[in-house]
Amino acid sequence: MKCDMKRFLILFLSLVLISGSALAATQQPEPEAWVCLKCGQVSDGNACIVCGETRGVWTCFACGTRNLSGACMNCGLEKSASIKQEADDARMPAAFSAVHYLAAAGDPVYLARLGRYYEKGIGVAQDADKAADCFRKAGSAGYAPAWVYLGRLYDAGVAVSQDYSLALECYEKAAELGSAEGYWYLGSFYEEGTGVQQNYAMALDYYHKAADQGDADAWMSIAYFHLHGKGVDADPAQALEYYEKAASLGSALACDYVGYLYMTGSLVPQDTAKGIEWYRKAAELGNARSMYALGYAYQCGQGVEINMEEALRWYEKAAMAGHANAYIVWNAFSK
Ligand SMILES: [Zn+2]
Ligand SMILES: [Zn+2]
Repeated sequence: MKCDMKRFLILFLSLVLISGSALAATQQPEPEAWVCLKCGQVSDGNACIVCGETRGVWTCFACGTRNLSGACMNCGLEKSASIKQEADDARMPAAFSAVHYLAAAGDPVYLARLGRYYEKGIGVAQDADKAADCFRKAGSAGYAPAWVYLGRLYDAGVAVSQDYSLALECYEKAAELGSAEGYWYLGSFYEEGTGVQQNYAMALDYYHKAADQGDADAWMSIAYFHLHGKGVDADPAQALEYYEKAASLGSALACDYVGYLYMTGSLVPQDTAKGIEWYRKAAELGNARSMYALGYAYQCGQGVEINMEEALRWYEKAAMAGHANAYIVWNAFSK
């Protein structure tokens, strides 16, 4: 009897202990904030405070199955891979929660992208302060484009109050990290005298730093300086060389401009065949003005045989790319 009593007591005590510790485990507070993968909300309980989704649940990007463990129970796709695929998906609003999740884990690339979402109100309410915060964090982690984004935010002064000296600081930080875009913006500030004393020599110097990294826009700016003698002696031949450099680096604007120069014979002896060639390159890169110019060339037989069908095809393309005149011309001829 005594023995039974003792056994009962041990059993009773161990039951109390087990249930006690189980209770403690379920009641343990979850102080750690987490990002809901369904709606992007930050919560700290076991369910999302906005949509009610269970903490840690993710939807497989490949097959749509809801999962809780590290790999999809239906197709085997890993959770981390699924979230990355979703975050990198082009349909941006859908990806807000995945981007927010990766940003919260400290990835500066996704932090910067989250900042862009807040800046533009993509998949989330527009919030310039949150955007600036994301950019600053991503930039401090060494991601140069984030400093450019933040600089542009202060530069534009639409969502936050305009502050050129803060913008300049951001571009300097981007440039320190070797960003060609950062150098280009510094060049444009010195060219325009935005927040600094106008200084063409310094502008040109910054443009060259960006151009050395293969920045086509920088070559365009340098070409313009040489064409109009800003900070250097005017030298149209040199300017043309720089425009061609920008064009060869894939700048649609430069291809269009070089095409125009050959077509009209400004700066260079007229060469309509070369002009057509450059217009085609620009059109391939999506330049609407070049598409329109090709339509005109086929209509009038400039550098090509007259071909009205081909002309209409180019006018239509240009109209679809947003060229207003091309739409009017296409409309008139295709009636
Ligand atoms: Zn949610
Ligand atoms: Zn799956």
